[in-house]
Amino acid sequence: MTTAARLDAIEGTFLDGSRIGPEEALELLEHESLVKLGAMADLARRRKHPDGVVTYIIDRNVNYTNVCNAFCTFCAFYRPPRHEEGYVLAAEEIERKIRETYDLGGNQILLQGGHNPKLKIEYYEDLFRKLKASFPDLWLHALSPPEVIHICRVSRLAVPEAVRRLREAGLDSIPGGGAEILVDSVRERMIKNKATADEWLAVMEEAHRQGLRSTATMMFGHIETRAERIEHMRKVRDLQDRTGGFTAFIGWTYQPGNTEMGGREATTAEYLRTMATARIFLDNFVNIQASWVTQGPKVGAASLAFGVNDMGSTMIEENVVSAAGTAHHMNEPDIVAAVRDAGFVPSRRNMLYERLPAPYAGA
Ligand code: SF4
Repeated sequence: MTTAARLDAIEGTFLDGSRIGPEEALELLEHESLVKLGAMADLARRRKHPDGVVTYIIDRNVNYTNVCNAFCTFCAFYRPPRHEEGYVLAAEEIERKIRETYDLGGNQILLQGGHNPKLKIEYYEDLFRKLKASFPDLWLHALSPPEVIHICRVSRLAVPEAVRRLREAGLDSIPGGGAEILVDSVRERMIKNKATADEWLAVMEEAHRQGLRSTATMMFGHIETRAERIEHMRKVRDLQDRTGGFTAFIGWTYQPGNTEMGGREATTAEYLRTMATARIFLDNFVNIQASWVTQGPKVGAASLAFGVNDMGSTMIEENVVSAAGTAHHMNEPDIVAAVRDAGFVPSRRNMLYERLPAPYAGA
């Protein structure tokens, strides 16, 4: 069969409303035209979001520590243990950042940090309880799966016990960070000491089993092949089939600035092709999130025509991508205007993707 005939057959399967397999997704990613991929992804988005609403959330990244012993070669954010620039934020400083977030209308923080060997589970339990006592309606979207695995290691706990204790202390949901590419042969080439693909998936499965929702992420455009990108998507799709616990899939491109790994960033076309393929292939994910933080506001808005239905966070504070030299900023009026300019209806949301009335009425 020729490539054109194979692509026609895949399109037929998709138009019928049937699920496409990993090999078909790879065929699309590698060979379908950007315009056709966008049209298919847009149809897939409309099947899930016929009202044209594009959501966003007001929240803040808080990086409680930059001390880390995972030594990822793609990371410009961390400092090794005992480095003079290493820090752990005091609870009072985190509370000040939360207060500023409330002042801007948000009640969620995305709390993530390095794998600090000095912080055991009691540190997180105390911190979460303190924050919840000060801000009772705070939504704690915190601790990516590799951080949870790290806590298990330094505290000698099994994953179910660690998740249970963190949940009881106030953890509300888990961000999908640290997934990079969920293929160990890729991970081993750029990570020295961090959760494996199966460990990442196991933390998410356990969290979902205990009633926590989470997101799935993918950092791509570095040393992985397109086939490995699809393998990553297959793994999160399979887990979503089992649990239904993921609220969204978020893809972003590797930012090479100031990193040991170096290299180049993926092109805009590659970003859009990958996001469109994700929308078509991940038929059990309701929400696909843009990464304007890495792509910039214009490409972020353009991605809405490639299957994306969520603009993510206003990112009142961001430290990880900016450490790699990438600095894009969008406040709530900017996001609202970008969504409207792209022909969609903006709506504020919470982590569960429940739509919220926006106090902001401008643009
Ligand atoms: S990406 Fe996370 S785990 Fe890896 S070195 Fe940076 S802070 Fe540590």
